[in-house]
Amino acid sequence: MSSRRKKSSRRPSPAAPPRGYDRQSFLIHGHARTRHWDYSHHVVPPLSSSSTFRLESHERGEAGFCGFADPEKSDFRKPQIFIYERLDEPVRALLEERLAAAEGAEMGACFASGMAAISTALLHRLQAGDEIVAHPTLYGCTYSLLANWAPRFGIKVRYHDLAEDLGRLRLNKRTRAVYCESPANPTLQIVDLAAVAEKVAAVNRGRRPEEEIRFVVDNTFATPACQRPLELGADVVCGSLTKGINGFGTDMGGYIATAKRDESSILVFRKDFGQPLSPTPAWRILNFGLPTLTLRTRRQEETACEIAEWLAAHPKVARVRYPGLPSSPGYEIARRQMRDFHGEFAPGSLLYFEVAGRSVKQAAARADALVDYIARRSYVITLAVSLGQIRTLIERPGGMTHSVLPPEVARTAGIGAGGIRLAFGIEDPRDIRRDLEKALAAV
Ligand SMILES: *Cc1c(COP(=O)(O)O)cnc(C)c1O
Repeated sequence: MSSRRKKSSRRPSPAAPPRGYDRQSFLIHGHARTRHWDYSHHVVPPLSSSSTFRLESHERGEAGFCGFADPEKSDFRKPQIFIYERLDEPVRALLEERLAAAEGAEMGACFASGMAAISTALLHRLQAGDEIVAHPTLYGCTYSLLANWAPRFGIKVRYHDLAEDLGRLRLNKRTRAVYCESPANPTLQIVDLAAVAEKVAAVNRGRRPEEEIRFVVDNTFATPACQRPLELGADVVCGSLTKGINGFGTDMGGYIATAKRDESSILVFRKDFGQPLSPTPAWRILNFGLPTLTLRTRRQEETACEIAEWLAAHPKVARVRYPGLPSSPGYEIARRQMRDFHGEFAPGSLLYFEVAGRSVKQAAARADALVDYIARRSYVITLAVSLGQIRTLIERPGGMTHSVLPPEVARTAGIGAGGIRLAFGIEDPRDIRRDLEKALAAV
C-alpha cells in the first residue's frame, strides 16, 4: 500500500459498521444517525424526491458549491448541504455509504446504470494518448465501449489475457488503467486479482500520482457478498447494481467504490456527464436489495453447487464452469479470493456450460433448441438477459449478450458455440433441475 493511500485512509471513514458489529448488519441498518438526512425517527429511510434544495442564505449556497466533491471541505460529522439532485442527494448518499462499507472502500458513488459507472471508472482520469489494458473476456457493452468509443477519444485499448498470461503483462508509460472482470462474463473465467494488483502496484511505485495506473475490477458477477477486490489490492471496483445487488429485477443502477483520492474527479465527471442514480431506484436498492444480498446469494450458491455437479455428469453437456466446482479452471484461485463477509468460500450465483455436439454447428443448434424449449415450456427458468435476481434466468451469450463480439474475439474469450449462461434465482433447486432435465432430454 502506498504512503499516499495510508494518508488518505487516516481520515475517519463513515462507511463502516460500529466497532464490533458485522458488515451484514450494517447493510440493513446503516448509521442510526447520518449527516445525509435527519431521520432519527424513521425506521425505514424516507424516499426523498426533490430535484432542488432550499438554501436559507447565499452563504449556504456558496458553501455547498465550494464544498461539492472537495474531500478537504466535506466533513461527514457535519450536516451535508444539498443543492441540486445531479450533484448530490440524500437517498443516494445513504446507499453510497452502505456500498462503500460492503466493498471495504473509503467512498462510493452511484450511477444510472452499470455502464455509466464503468465508463466513468475507466475514463475520468484519462486523456487522448493514454492506454487501457483490458482482459479480453468482457461484458458485451464494455467491449463495445472499448472497441467503438475509446478510440474516438484517442484512448488506446490493448487486450492482454490476465488469467493465462499474466507473466508477460507489460505496462507502459501511457498505461493508466488495467481492467478486468472476475468471474468474467459469460465464461466465469477467474483472474488472480491479488497477482494483478501486485504487478500494477510495483509499476506505480516509481510514478507520480497523476501517472499512476489504476487496477479497475468489475465486481458485478461476484458482488461484495462474494468478493471484495479492494481487499485483494485492486484500486477501483465498479459494476452494476441492476443485477445481484438490486436482486429483484426492479431497477437499474451502477456504482464505483474506491479510495478518497479519486472522489473529486469521479463526482465532477458524474455531475458533468450527468449520469447519477435517481433517488427512487436508490431507495429500493437501499431498503430491499442490499439488506437481503447475502441471504439471497447463499441460497443461489447452494443451488449452483448442486446443479453444477449434476450438469458436469450429464452426457449432453460438454463442460461446466462454476467457481465452486473443483474441476472448473481457476477453482484454486476462486477459493482464495471469493469469500463472503465471514471468510467462507462464496463461489457466486452464476454458471456457464456448453451443450455437447459432434460439430460446432451441432452444438450451436442444440444450444438454440435448449433455450427455445425453456422459453416455451419451463416454469421456473426464464429466457432473459440479466442475472442475480430471485428468478432463474438463462441465455445464450454467443447469440445474445455477447453478439457484438466478432467471432475471433468470442473464440479468444472462450465463448463456445454451445455456450449457455445460467443465473440462479431463489426457487426450489429441485424445480430448476426439473426444468433443465426436461429441456436437455428434448435436444
Ligand atoms: C450487466 C453488466 C454490466 C452493465 O450493467 P448495466 O446496469 O446493465 O448497465 C456490466 N458488467 C457486467 C459484468 C454485467 O453483467
